[in-house]
Amino acid sequence: MIVAIDGPAGAGKSSVARALARRLGFRYLDTGAMYRALTWLALQTGTALDDATALARLARERPVEFGAGDAVAIAGRDVTAEIRQAEIDAAVPVVARHPEVREVMRERQRALGEQGDSVIEGRDIGVVVVPHADLKVWLVADPRVRALRRHAERDGLTVATLADELRRRDERDAANTHRAEDAVEVDTTDLSLDEVVARIEGLVRE
Ligand code: C5P
Repeated sequence: MIVAIDGPAGAGKSSVARALARRLGFRYLDTGAMYRALTWLALQTGTALDDATALARLARERPVEFGAGDAVAIAGRDVTAEIRQAEIDAAVPVVARHPEVREVMRERQRALGEQGDSVIEGRDIGVVVVPHADLKVWLVADPRVRALRRHAERDGLTVATLADELRRRDERDAANTHRAEDAVEVDTTDLSLDEVVARIEGLVRE
């Protein structure tokens, strides 16, 4: 069984998908972490962010590895913390917009998803990556609440700056963010993490 969770930045996708996977005993796949790790490696290796061919080659030759817990590694380096920094937030949509890069990522996301029951989280999962997903969830939240939640995760940036960052990133990701027609919308604005997870778990067990 595959549960696809899509939505804009900061809607709570990662926390929800991770907790849901744990509750269901499913695998958890964070596709945003894959684009983030590739972006980190591109910056590290001096690969131009507008060079789609070089980026796609890098993605093919250096697949992202998921370890225990939330661990993310690429090219033999643990990048779990580095990929959550503001520099990566800003650069990742530039890398993720190349169709050549998305094709490599998509193949790997499908291969990982097919290894067993999975919760897969991203922006194009229910429409592009796994259109046959058994349950599709479209997660949304009020922009201010999204910025406040991000504020709790990121050091040193104001809520206003973070709200601006989220809005700009959504605009830049818009072309690759798709809401499936058959997705169930869950608005997390006034819900706790437990409430959101319980609601989706209910949908899975229906
Ligand atoms: O979800 P997260 O904020 O970690 O995603 C980071 C970036 O990865 C997004 O801003 C977007 O550019 C890209 N992304 C994507 N398609 C996905 C998941 C993430 O383009 N399925």
